[in-house]
Amino acid sequence: MKYTRMLYETVEPGIVKITMNRPEKRNAEDALMLEEMQDAFVEADIDEDVRVIILAGAGKDFSAGHDMSGKGEKAPEKSIMGRFLDTKLTGMEMRMRREDYIYWNQCMVMRDVSKPTIAMVQGNCLAGGWMNASMCDLIVASDDAKFGDPVVRMTPAGVEILFHPYDVGFRKAKEMLWTGDTISAEEAKQLGLVSKVVSREQLEEATLELARRIAINMPVAVGLVKRSINNAWDEMGQRDAWKYHYLIHHLSHSSEEATKYREERAKAIEKGGVKEMLKARDGKFK
Ligand code: ZN
Repeated sequence: MKYTRMLYETVEPGIVKITMNRPEKRNAEDALMLEEMQDAFVEADIDEDVRVIILAGAGKDFSAGHDMSGKGEKAPEKSIMGRFLDTKLTGMEMRMRREDYIYWNQCMVMRDVSKPTIAMVQGNCLAGGWMNASMCDLIVASDDAKFGDPVVRMTPAGVEILFHPYDVGFRKAKEMLWTGDTISAEEAKQLGLVSKVVSREQLEEATLELARRIAINMPVAVGLVKRSINNAWDEMGQRDAWKYHYLIHHLSHSSEEATKYREERAKAIEKGGVKEMLKARDGKFK
């Protein structure tokens, strides 16, 4: 697959860095970016020379989340999104079946690749951006990083995957999903979400240092540790809780509130682009 949204580089022997490359859009993830991200993870997983995978974002921010502008380039015909747009599906059926691929499958592939993954996070790491960081095994953050899922302000009951309680604890997850407020890198570290907090200048080196510490160990053992710990989470019900939440997420998309909000959002975007939409959405929370 040829990438237009992502960069794929072997930064050192055994270490691959997969970078979201839309810095001018704060690495907002459109469907094409997520398809490419999933493909890049599979690529790195299959490559026998790769021992650790790093997920990064180019520019000031890791990612501001899913692209809300609705003005991404037209999805290429052969892409999953492109093929869905060619069908006659509409409404809930279109949304859910598309999201099965674009969000659910993509997240599960990233969570389950056999190799260790590290998200290298700076600046905004919000909603869908946090979701992707969360699918990684470890997170290294710079001190300016902010984590949050403000989608309640747009009517969904959190993003598609319920990673939050596992990342910050169940009560804190409720607080964050009800207020839409963010936490700092330092707070994220105290809550166990982040392994290390460093300055922005040290972020790349600190992430590589951790990747190297893992990469010198035997790949099979490292991979099996991941499988075992992820399985322990599954046994504790994580995957089932995620499936339940995925349906809840779609229920919230289908509410009257959501339909009304989508119309208002479309009007705001029409009027003044994403800036206007954010002003209308976030004004009262400032
Ligand atoms: Zn959704």
